[in-house]
Amino acid sequence: MRKKLVAGNWKMHGSRVMADALVGEIVENLPGGVEVVVFPPDVYLAGLSDRYGDRGLGFGAQDLSEHHALGAYTGEIAGEMLRDVGADWVLVGHSERRQYQRETDDLLAKKFDAARTAGLKPILCVGETLEEHEDGRAEEVIGHQIGVVIDCCGIESFRDAVIAYEPVWAIGTGLTATPEKAQKIHAAIRSQLAKKDANISLLTRVLYGGSVKPANAAELFAQPDVDGGLIGGASLVASDFLDICAAAR
Ligand code: PGA
Repeated sequence: MRKKLVAGNWKMHGSRVMADALVGEIVENLPGGVEVVVFPPDVYLAGLSDRYGDRGLGFGAQDLSEHHALGAYTGEIAGEMLRDVGADWVLVGHSERRQYQRETDDLLAKKFDAARTAGLKPILCVGETLEEHEDGRAEEVIGHQIGVVIDCCGIESFRDAVIAYEPVWAIGTGLTATPEKAQKIHAAIRSQLAKKDANISLLTRVLYGGSVKPANAAELFAQPDVDGGLIGGASLVASDFLDICAAAR
């Protein structure tokens, strides 16, 4: 019922030449039966979507402004600008932005809302830190991160949205949650949504992220509530990313 989704978050990596080569190889070898989206740095979006926008690969941005209307916000990029250069998706609340840009749950709820207003599908990223993990507070922390967005934007706003569970201690560290642990958290996220709307909870895709590699992807994606992955490091190597996409079929 939920089509698997694999999303490649390039973070602040790449160049014009590299972006073109990577996306060129991905579109040539896209496996069927899985939805695939890449999130390059914004400056490469227009060129990539002009060249490859009709090849079955989706494009998204890694962040957007919380402001709905264009205006005097130096350095900000509006959701409608991202749409204009070919993005259909946007990440909201990646842990690196929560940490380095000090993005709060309240700000992220505004960004989630701005994404939807602009017609972008948000991927809301949530996850606990190592300390919270060790204190056994993962479900509580994630429940709060999602709850703020539900309270602010309403459960209906999750209809086209995706949630990515990314334990902070697993991002870029080579450590991954075991498939069983990931499944437990994903099931908890789904039951949180179900308390508000059973139908939306069944439709919403919940991705796992954090050191997903070709070697562990199939096992993670085989869990009943894991609907694909948000891939960082391995999304920069075409063959690894394509193997991960194939594991999601
Ligand atoms: P990683 O990053 O796959 O390199 O751990 C995942 C992410 O930050 O989305």
